[in-house]
Amino acid sequence: MAEEQKVILVTGGTGLVGKAIQTVIENDKRSDEKWIFVGSKDADLSSKSDTEKLFKEHRPTHVIHLAAMVGGLFHNMANNLDFFRINMQINDNVLHTAHLHNVVKVISCLSTCIFPDKITYPIDESMIHLGFPHTSNYGYSFAKRMIDVQNRAYFDQHGRIYTSIIPCNVFGPHDNFKPTHSHVIPGLMRRLYDIIKTGNTEDKVFTVLGSGKPLRQFIYSLDLAKLIVWVLRGYESVEPIILSVDESSEVTIAEVAEELVKAFDFKGKIEFDSSAADGQYKKTASNTKLRKLLPEFQFTPFHQAVKETVEWYKTNYQNARN
Ligand code: NDP
Repeated sequence: MAEEQKVILVTGGTGLVGKAIQTVIENDKRSDEKWIFVGSKDADLSSKSDTEKLFKEHRPTHVIHLAAMVGGLFHNMANNLDFFRINMQINDNVLHTAHLHNVVKVISCLSTCIFPDKITYPIDESMIHLGFPHTSNYGYSFAKRMIDVQNRAYFDQHGRIYTSIIPCNVFGPHDNFKPTHSHVIPGLMRRLYDIIKTGNTEDKVFTVLGSGKPLRQFIYSLDLAKLIVWVLRGYESVEPIILSVDESSEVTIAEVAEELVKAFDFKGKIEFDSSAADGQYKKTASNTKLRKLLPEFQFTPFHQAVKETVEWYKTNYQNARN
């Protein structure tokens, strides 16, 4: 019997996570899978008609839905309404068009930063809806949380196995290094490289905003991509799953800065500007569920992932999102 061809459409396929999936799939091709990666130039997913056209063109059987309006702290704070409305539109268009086209599986992307602000740690998959998110990004957070609501309702009403993944902070090649948009690692990388490009660094100071003490979990985009491919091929549940490094791999912002300094071979001094806000001290997420299902998964050591990302950035600086 001929094997059934899966057609896997990846929305947000041109971004940090989408590009990482492209890289992983290059080395892990299967004859029964056809992968299609699309970005906003292929279809504006906040438009229903664009979304329908895209699905008509590619006829996917599976969807990895990564596309989202994303941004840094200040962009979120100033635009909570837009973050809510645009992400709700994108998610509703993708999920409902997938349903109408009989797509058998959709994996959508939530984030550990959408959890309640006041919560006990470590956070786990059962806590998404337990309280108000941090006020800085409540628009983004509620729109993301609604994906989980929609997934449950598509199951209840139509028996669909549409699920969601919850990554911690992601970094890697093809990240967004624009100061207004960037997360902590690409933000610090961009600032440090700007200093390095001015020449001899021995008398230079790399200023890191905040005390350097907050703890964060970072997942390398290529590790996340491998896990997403595993979810596609082997995880059959509507219930969300946290895709994060272990709790023991949490690092301080100071450690992040030190790894970057090593990777760039910066010879100057690091200083912490404690007058700047630190944000939450920690947001530890538990990957117990993932570890039960995939105990042997090896995450790339943090220093190696930082080194590879820095090498990529130096080589691709001209074409990076700066
Ligand atoms: P990027 O900013 O790197 O990529 C975003 C992607 O979404 C791009 O491919 C972009 O297309 C696409 N996109 C944005 N708006 C639209 C639109 N209106 N129509 C169609 N496509 C659109 O993001 P990441 O790769 O970092 O994020 C991927 C997912 O992971 C998101 O859902 C995000 O919320 C989630 N996430 C990310 C984390 C992180 O630390 N980065 C942490 C946890 C979750 P184009 O570039 O072509 O314009």
